[in-house]
Order: sequence, then structure tokens, then C-alpha cells
Amino acid sequence: MKIICIGRNYAEHAKEMKAETPTEPVFFMKPDTALLLNNDPFYFPKFSNEVHHEVEVVLKINKNGKNIQKQFASKYYEEVSVGIDFTARDLQAICKAKGLPWEKAKAFDSSGVVGAMHSKEHYKDLSALSFRLDINGKTVQEGNTKDVIFSFDAIIEYVSQYVTLRTGDLIFTGTPVGVGPVKIGDRLEAYLENEKLLDFEVK
Ligand code: MG
Repeated sequence: MKIICIGRNYAEHAKEMKAETPTEPVFFMKPDTALLLNNDPFYFPKFSNEVHHEVEVVLKINKNGKNIQKQFASKYYEEVSVGIDFTARDLQAICKAKGLPWEKAKAFDSSGVVGAMHSKEHYKDLSALSFRLDINGKTVQEGNTKDVIFSFDAIIEYVSQYVTLRTGDLIFTGTPVGVGPVKIGDRLEAYLENEKLLDFEVK
């Protein structure tokens, strides 16, 4: 499986990164070795001094598809959760400055943390899902999918032109404003519609 991540899908986050609001989706990938599940601890990597949290709604792809049209896109995901797109911001800044790919900063081991999956039928409206991240009991990021620039279905249509989606693939749909550093000892708890789906520590 692979993990597809959407960048800059919330205008206020694009602003905080001093990035332009995109006119088409920006995506990148993490390999399967980036996946961290089951509330396992995240071990702070030795190669970075500044790892940021990015809380995101995550979709799980449930059938193979290529060139998926937007009107059929919702048939390609059945489950949703929240996740953390961990980002070595210091390395990313160097990559960006040199015009290099971001993989070192975004695709490292355990950088894609995913919470417990729920059937999408569990939620009234996927286009108005609230989600948030608490660190040590304090809310640090809050978002709502009504604020996305590109809807889940638009993302699937766009990405599947280039990359075949397969059963089991995950899509991180972008982070809202409020990204920031984590440190060893932090406890991260992520919620979707006020229901905790992820709870783990930084070690
Ligand atoms: Mg992200």
C-alpha cells in the first residue's frame, strides 16, 4: 500500500507556511514503512530537531481505480479516521530552499500515524467533519472539512489521473492551521467529531 498526502488544502495553513493557495491539489507520498498504527509510540528521529504535527482526516481506499470521475469517487472509500502527517520541518525548509524533493522530511519511518478507522456511514456529513489534535490535554489544532480547498472526491479524481489507487491505500487530506513542534514525552490525542481515534506518545 501507499500513503498519498495532500498539501495546502486549508487556506489558513497555506498562509502560515507562507505558501500560495494552490489552484490544483498538491500531493506527495509516503511509503508503507511510514505507517504507524495501534497507538504505538512515535520515536523522535535523530536526524531532525524540529518535527511538526499535522493532524488530518484520513481516507482508506477500498477498491482499485484509475481515472476516477468525481461523481463516482465516494465509492472508492468506505472508512475514515484521523492521522498525523509528521514533518521534519527543519529538513523540509532545506529541501524547499534548494528546490529538492521533500521525501527526507515527509516520508521517513513512522511519519504517517493513523487512528482507528470508522465506517463513513458513522458520520452524517463528510463535508462538515470537525477534527482536532490535543497535546498533553491542550488543543493545538482544530479543523473542519468544510474549509477544504479540494473536496475528498476532487482529490481522488485528481490523484487517480496520475497514480492508480489500490485497496488499502490511505489518503491524508490536508492539515488546518496551527502546525507546530512535538517533543519527547508529549501525548498526542486526535479526535474526529469529538470522538478520540488516536492516542499515542512521543518517545
Ligand atoms: Mg500534511
